[in-house]
Amino acid sequence: MAMSEWELIVDREVCLGSGLCVGATKGVFELVDNRSRPTASQCSPDEAVMLAATSCPAGAIRIVEASVGRTIFPDEEG
Ligand code: SF4
Repeated sequence: MAMSEWELIVDREVCLGSGLCVGATKGVFELVDNRSRPTASQCSPDEAVMLAATSCPAGAIRIVEASVGRTIFPDEEG
């Protein structure tokens, strides 16, 4: 069974505009008005996207399993 698509959410209030996530992924994020945002509403599960989320210095990136609305990162159970 294929993995569920990911929905990406960037909190533009806390994003620092570093552009790390833009550089670490291929066309998944873009800087608009010096803040990151996803370029599409959903993306395929991708190690580079997870790495961008986990290494965002502001903790601004949330990853949600789109089909069930479950947050994959950050881990809310920890
Ligand atoms: S890595 Fe985080 S702080 Fe930097 S641009 Fe992306 S979302 Fe913003």
